[in-house]
Amino acid sequence: MPRPILATIHTAALAHNLERARRAAVDARVWAVVKANAYGHGIEHVFEPFRAADGFALLDLAEAERVRALGWRGPVLLLEGVFEPRDLELCSRLEVWHTVHCDAQIDMLAAHKTQVPQRVFLKMNSGMNRLGFSPERFRAAWTRLDALPQVDEISLMTHFSDADGARGVAHQLEVFERVTRDLPGERTIANSAAALRHAATTRADWVRPGILLYGSAPDFPEHDAAHWQLQPSMTLSTRLLSVQTLAAGETVGYGSRFTAEGPMTIGVAAVGYADGYPRHCDTGTPVLVNGVRTRMVGRVSMDMITVDLTPVPDAVFGSEVTLWGRASNGAVLPIDEVARSAGTIGYELMCAVAPRVPVAVD
Ligand code: PLP
Repeated sequence: MPRPILATIHTAALAHNLERARRAAVDARVWAVVKANAYGHGIEHVFEPFRAADGFALLDLAEAERVRALGWRGPVLLLEGVFEPRDLELCSRLEVWHTVHCDAQIDMLAAHKTQVPQRVFLKMNSGMNRLGFSPERFRAAWTRLDALPQVDEISLMTHFSDADGARGVAHQLEVFERVTRDLPGERTIANSAAALRHAATTRADWVRPGILLYGSAPDFPEHDAAHWQLQPSMTLSTRLLSVQTLAAGETVGYGSRFTAEGPMTIGVAAVGYADGYPRHCDTGTPVLVNGVRTRMVGRVSMDMITVDLTPVPDAVFGSEVTLWGRASNGAVLPIDEVARSAGTIGYELMCAVAPRVPVAVD
């Protein structure tokens, strides 16, 4: 028998979240961001619910090939662009649009005559200081691209560093708009946080939501996913494989990090950091047992965690344990709450689910 751990992908929730993005986007088109294997969900599992998107934005050409193999004929955007000249041929063959963020990529385009003219998204570094041309050099890059016969359309993009935080988007938006004001071409600037929080000023021609499609809130301090009417698209569940009773003063697990204050019952659940459950979770991290909220106690081991069964006296060997997502009784444990306990964000938890975890689609 396989271990009882399971990642369940909820297709109705994915479709609902895409619709939510569409409402925020009003009449802008929506890129479904499916990089990192659709934020750990599996591109093949999200494809049908995301068919209603206007395009798929992703990271590498292997992902682009998978989307084309699934039968997608619409737009595909490579978010980091090409690394090598032969990538341009593949972009051409797969009809993939690609980001251009540095001179080396323009050099490659200039030196390479592709069979099909290329559509590119020229990226400005408006303040994130990761990828893109500086505001001072952006127009020169545009002019260089515009002179290349192998480039037939230039769109404009930038990416926000603090759309989910206190700084917001105004400073980057001002730079982007000032520099691009009289340039032709479509614009795409909004990630999930901008699309939800700064919708009116950032939707432009295309929005590029990722995390919201997967039912997790960007790293907002103030609002959770339910506030934005997002539904969890992944449940990580398992079962109890042992029930133990502790006397006062007894400890649990490696490092003896939890000491029972009085007699108590704990359950041992079949999940550990080798499944992608974060080792930084510790005593207090919320868990559902039989859909009832309780807490983890002690350290996360490679293949097991231990949970306090005080609020679930009927729990036995085989009882359902929900690490995040939706329990059988309908109770929801938001992935963002678990992420906070681990000092991280929902994005990382989704992406970290290990290949050994079987996946079901409902
Ligand atoms: N656009 C770009 C260029 C990105 O790198 C990302 C993700 O990091 C996104 C859009 C989607 O961001 P989010 O998942 O926060 O919506």
